[in-house]
Amino acid sequence: MPSMNEDIAQYPVYMVNSDGKLKQIRIDSTDDYNHCEFELHHFIPQSIRKNNPELYGRIVHLQKLILLPKDVHHSIHAGAGYRGLENWELLFSRKQWRNGVYERYNNDTFGSVFVEFTGG
Ligand SMILES: [Zn+2]
Repeated sequence: MPSMNEDIAQYPVYMVNSDGKLKQIRIDSTDDYNHCEFELHHFIPQSIRKNNPELYGRIVHLQKLILLPKDVHHSIHAGAGYRGLENWELLFSRKQWRNGVYERYNNDTFGSVFVEFTGG
């Protein structure tokens, strides 16, 4: 598996702001945040990447890293949402993916705004 620093270079990194919106941030490495308070979370779990590379290849465009307070990170893996965001907005859900929910998201404002499908 690639290192976290390789993933930071490859995928967009976000934080959840106080309004419950995902805001893209710029970090260059794992040296750029406080490890006592924050953890970097993979939206698409490493388990899918490792165990189901075929699926990962189909959804890799959705991959992102989210910098989360440690306790929030753990609660998201236990099924919780955060600041008004649903769990599936923070952790890839196969069910939502099959329903096409992620493809209806506007990538520029991912996590905050649904956009109308035009055409198709
Ligand atoms: Zn995580």
